[in-house]
Amino acid sequence: MGAVRGLECSGCRETFEGSRLSAVCPECQSPLLAQYDLEALRTRLTADVVGRRPSGLWRWGELLPASETLGWTLSLGEGDTPLLPVPRLAADLGLKSVWIKDEGVNPTGTFKARGLAVAVARASEQGISDFVLPTAGNAGAALAAYAARGGARAHLFLPADAPPPILREIEAAGGQIHKVNGLIDQAGREAAAAAREQGWLDLSTFREVGRVEGKKTMGLELAESLGPELPDVILYPTGGGTGLIGIAKAFDELQTLGWIDERRPRLVAVQAEGCAPVVRALDRGDPAVERWEDAHTAAAGLRVPAPFAGRLIVDTLRRSGGTGVVVTDEEMRQARRRLARLEGVLACLEGAATVAGAAVLARQGWIRPEERVVLFNTGTGLKDLL
Ligand SMILES: *Cc1c(COP(=O)(O)O)cnc(C)c1O
Ligand SMILES: [Zn+2]
Repeated sequence: MGAVRGLECSGCRETFEGSRLSAVCPECQSPLLAQYDLEALRTRLTADVVGRRPSGLWRWGELLPASETLGWTLSLGEGDTPLLPVPRLAADLGLKSVWIKDEGVNPTGTFKARGLAVAVARASEQGISDFVLPTAGNAGAALAAYAARGGARAHLFLPADAPPPILREIEAAGGQIHKVNGLIDQAGREAAAAAREQGWLDLSTFREVGRVEGKKTMGLELAESLGPELPDVILYPTGGGTGLIGIAKAFDELQTLGWIDERRPRLVAVQAEGCAPVVRALDRGDPAVERWEDAHTAAAGLRVPAPFAGRLIVDTLRRSGGTGVVVTDEEMRQARRRLARLEGVLACLEGAATVAGAAVLARQGWIRPEERVVLFNTGTGLKDLL
């Protein structure tokens, strides 16, 4: 199981056994994060070693909380997505160097594949074969696929208005659908109750460590592609914050491994006008994230009114010198057209939000013209067309 040394609470720093399945601190209810014996890996895990392995996220096995042997057998080809230079979009934004990390080419069409691949491998190692997840859609599709791949069962709790193409995708892979009257937090309560009653493993965002660790590989790949020169700014469409926390964690681990120095990109959370609890907390200077009432946006992945890891997200953004930016659904749609026409990348609305967010920050001068900028397209735009 890689070199996991244990799980550490992101709130009170209490440490726990590495095999522990629940990642909620019993002392302070903050998320636990996996810690590795990085010092021992310093000489072994070089860019050269990792670069020679077959492509896919399991080539980072030493930095993942599950056996890579099992991981490779469950793999559907997740990870090692392209980092595309987008010069025409950059010029249009008045910037010099912009890249898109295109997560839309992952299995099931989104970066959720990374997190669920690792979460399912980690739990399977401990003999678990029933998983439960509250989901806006994409995480459910990914879990259904990896559960099928591993001969396990997926039970998904979704808001009743979840996108029909994703419901069909889940059904196709044999996932059990439970529709919920309410938003993702209500789905979370019902999923947690089902987990308790049925003995299923709850793979909710930040309730176990595999999903953050899987998404961490986005940061590892980025650092590997750009070498020691990390970008100046990263824009990320933020829902539950798994990816943001994972990317920041990747950079910290790579610094300990000696791959990069202490310089870090400024991390930007992009959220929807109708659901922006993280950006509001940043604007107000609050340490914690308050629930956003009446959350609404067509970008389902951003409709997370009360992210469980709120404090950690806000703290990570602030420490990076980053910020938050809000865009409307209409701006996301326009940005999607702009990106597809200029560069041929068909983004999901959440990914397109980063293009719209970059336009706002470039206009304000918060991003300077010569700065190097990475936008995360978290999924394919094809699901929205079905
Ligand atoms: C889940 C999701 C997000 C939000 O991801 P987090 O890492 O949990 O903040 C963004 N975009 C898409 C397409 C998603 O499915
Ligand atoms: Zn704690």
